[in-house]
Formats: sequence, structure tokens, C-alpha cells
Amino acid sequence: MDFRSEIEALSGQNANLCFQCSKCSAGCPMAEMMDIKPAQIMHNIRLNRKEAVLNSTAIWLCVGCETCSARCPQGVEPAAAMNSARLMAMKEGVPPRVREVAIYYRGFVDNMRLNGKIHDASVAGITQLLTGQLVDNLPLAWNLFKRGRVKMPPLPFRGSKFRKVYQKAFEIEQGSQQ
Ligand code: SF4
Ligand code: SF4
Repeated sequence: MDFRSEIEALSGQNANLCFQCSKCSAGCPMAEMMDIKPAQIMHNIRLNRKEAVLNSTAIWLCVGCETCSARCPQGVEPAAAMNSARLMAMKEGVPPRVREVAIYYRGFVDNMRLNGKIHDASVAGITQLLTGQLVDNLPLAWNLFKRGRVKMPPLPFRGSKFRKVYQKAFEIEQGSQQ
């Protein structure tokens, strides 16, 4: 299966429907920071340009707000395509162009596995630690803590149910790749 077919199958989108009006890019709150805008992502998918899509910052900077999908006159969902491309990049071990986001995702899943739910401060703290920004943000963290905005992590850790779901999903995923 070629790149375009894989993304279409994963995301449920038909890249051919996109007629490059760029309404998605115009509404995207992250477009200014992206190297390839949402409309260009769709164009590259259509042209089977896997390298360009998987190595873009766009697939990591997309915050999944779905403004692009809501604006598309063709009913195309660039948000779903972005998500699928990001998953593909992770599966294929393509180095993330925005390392902080990849670290955040990893921390998010690990936190779920540990606690069974998200503890925001832990995810933020681990992300900042691993990206070398912890010291800079300590005053802010302390202020939030003093105002009661940072809760202590849940104890005892209760991630066993989520770990089972995660393990099951992992096995299904492995099975589908054999
Ligand atoms: S809004 Fe829809 S049709 Fe227009 S460029 Fe974006 S995906 Fe393509
Ligand atoms: S879902 Fe992603 S690509 Fe679409 S508008 Fe939001 S940030 Fe931009």
C-alpha cells in the first residue's frame, strides 16, 4: 500500500476531494508556526510525498482543534490526516521534528499507565525536565502550587485497569501488523 492509501485508510479521508482552497490553513491557529500548512499537507498526501509529510513540524504542532475540518467546504478532515501521519511517523521511528511534543505524548501515556488517569502537574513536570525547561519554569510552578492549582499525585497508583486496556490494544496492534 502506498503512503497516500495508508493515510486515507487510517484517517478515513479522501485526499482527492481537496481542491486546495486553503480555508483550512487560513483558520488553523497553529499554521503560522508550521513549516507546511494544513492545505499543503493534504496536497503532499495526494502526491504521495511521504518524506515531506512525516518530516514536517506541522504534524507535531497540530493541536487537534479541528477548525480545519469544520471549515472545509469539501468535508475533508485535515485534522484526521495530521493525526494519522503523526501516528505513522511514531510507528516508523521517524525522529519527531518537535521533540517537546513527542516527549509530552510519551509522558501522557506513561502517566495514564501509572495512575489510571492524568495528573497534569506530573506530565508537565516530566516534559519540562526532559526538555531542559524545568528550572526556568520553577517560579511559575511554585506560584501555581501556592494558589492550590497543582494537586498532589494520586496515591496509591491505580493504573492497573488502564494498563490492561493498554496491553490489549498493544496486542491487537501487534497482531494487525503480522
Ligand atoms: S479546506 Fe478542504 S478543500 Fe480546502 S484546502 Fe483545506 S482540505 Fe482542501
Ligand atoms: S486540527 Fe490541527 S491542522 Fe487543523 S486547525 Fe487545528 S491545529 Fe490546525
